[in-house]
Amino acid sequence: MRGFCIVDFERNETLCGMNRCPGWKRSIVRANWVVLPSVLLLWLSPSARADFSIAKGGKAKCVIVQQPKATLAESNAVRELAETLQKITGATFAIQGAEGDEAPKGASIVGVGSAARALFPEMALDKLGSEEIVMKVKGGRLLLAGGGPRGTPYAVYRFLQEQCGVRWWAPWATTIPNRRTLSVPNLAVRSQPAFEYRDPYWSAAFEPYWKVHNVANGGSRPVPEDLGGCIQYKGFAHTFYPLVPPDKYFGPHPEWYSLINGKRTHDNAQLCLSNPELRDFMVQRVKEWLRESPEARIISVTQNDCHGACQCANCKAIDDAEGSPSGSMLTFVNYIAEKIEPEFPNVAVDTFAYQYTRHPPGTLRARPNVIVRLCSIECNFREPLDHPSNAAFLADLQGWSKICRRLYVWDYVTDFAHYVLPHPNWFVLGPNLRLFQAYNVKGVFEEGAYAGPGAEMAELESWVLAQLLWNPRQDDRALTKEFLRGYYGERAEDIIWQYLELMHDASKGFNLRCFLGRDPPHLRFQPLAGAERLWQQAEVAASRETDPEKLMRVRMGHLPVRYACLKWWVPLRKECREQNANWPWLESRKATAEEFRAVCQGVPAKDWTQVKVLNEGGLQVDAFLKAFAQDTPDLDGPLPPQR
Ligand SMILES: [Zn+2]
Repeated sequence: MRGFCIVDFERNETLCGMNRCPGWKRSIVRANWVVLPSVLLLWLSPSARADFSIAKGGKAKCVIVQQPKATLAESNAVRELAETLQKITGATFAIQGAEGDEAPKGASIVGVGSAARALFPEMALDKLGSEEIVMKVKGGRLLLAGGGPRGTPYAVYRFLQEQCGVRWWAPWATTIPNRRTLSVPNLAVRSQPAFEYRDPYWSAAFEPYWKVHNVANGGSRPVPEDLGGCIQYKGFAHTFYPLVPPDKYFGPHPEWYSLINGKRTHDNAQLCLSNPELRDFMVQRVKEWLRESPEARIISVTQNDCHGACQCANCKAIDDAEGSPSGSMLTFVNYIAEKIEPEFPNVAVDTFAYQYTRHPPGTLRARPNVIVRLCSIECNFREPLDHPSNAAFLADLQGWSKICRRLYVWDYVTDFAHYVLPHPNWFVLGPNLRLFQAYNVKGVFEEGAYAGPGAEMAELESWVLAQLLWNPRQDDRALTKEFLRGYYGERAEDIIWQYLELMHDASKGFNLRCFLGRDPPHLRFQPLAGAERLWQQAEVAASRETDPEKLMRVRMGHLPVRYACLKWWVPLRKECREQNANWPWLESRKATAEEFRAVCQGVPAKDWTQVKVLNEGGLQVDAFLKAFAQDTPDLDGPLPPQR
């Protein structure tokens, strides 16, 4: 999903066609109505206060009861529950095994077992969905349990977050409140995630404990089984050539590769998807891969990261009949999915609707064991995906949602050309996930900055996305403010919120791609100078926090505005002069670059503070700053006297 993407944007926009489906507004309303009951069923009794006491005055009021057949992930969650409750209350919590159908009053029962079944028969615990969770207080006992391999750990972590106030902002930033007296109300929660596959793909979101605490289950970065595991892919993207390597097979079988302009080629090309021999060879290759990786639940059979679809008569006939190159792709993938199903009934075959295949076919349907990942790479991320500027994508989303039962989305949430640059997409995260849910999307991969720390709002987007992937009906702006307060501190919260609003407002009307386009209005002098002043204020505010890490986080948050100042120094100086305005940065670009370098160097032994890579292409900090090693005088003379 890189490299060729930039040049293909413009062409693709015209390929994708118009909104073909006038009925989409009706179906979205209907879809909303259907999905709501599955999101969260919560009822609290307002009259019942302090229904279950966990600790009083630093003394434990409950014991934790573990089920006899608890998995390693479940017993780890039990231990973490006891340790975290101890940190909150100062009390020590005993862990004991369940004895038959019994558990004493004051028990926090964790997991599904005979005691939970006997004491909470109304919860039908054996019918819980694979990640469905229960938090229930009854008869002086608390039950935390869930279905499948991760449900019970998730119930524990959601309980600690929702009921006890714990927040896992980033692997290096956790909030654990201090409450010597802690009780929870008369809970009766039964909920399940809105999406079966949830993957905020930011380097801040790779750490396995962070993932399980924030209920992210994507397999792009694995979670070990003793923490509950994840949904494992075999291959993940662009697997055509790993499955059918041209250096081995192009020689004997050129006919397996694309025919382009009358010539078989493997250069910037794909496979000849209608070739029957290739199809059967691919079935064998997929089976080999799956036998090597029995843990995989999804195998990626996905196009290369370029165009180059086969133009042979047979491929073209399918694509012409279906009105899209997704015709031959889906025919191919359906065939493989059908052939592997007897041996691998629990595995889905995944393919892309990406660039030239984004437009759905006219008559085909995806088999039930096929996942289509629809990719939003061409879209405008300043606006939600149902904005008129994204009409072609919305039409494709609607089209695929009608013909694919397991539709996933590969979404883009950073600027890949400039990770460390203001990228005001934060207010579309919630609307877009709600849109995906309304169209019955089952999984979402949110591709952010994955090469290391320092990217614009990386921790914020990781955390907010993880919350919304579990339940997109939450107030995304409230979640954003909550994160700012928790991560940057209450003194800087409002100032950084103003920065988010400033950049959002200043980018109005701009087509915000995931690779920066020309002349972004939010990077002109006036908004950027305003942003600079806000970050300076935020640094002063955060310097008054007792936790010195808050200031480090704010200084890193400031980097994107400084990056913009350095990169566009000359035109910004020109604008400043024309507007007779005050220049908020240092007078020396070299000194500004040195400030930038000092923040990027971070602190020894704290990897998250060390910024090394500035874009997807791997641009290093030193290479970026090299151009600013010497100051040069302003071409039009110095700025007017500053007020
Ligand atoms: Zn062909």
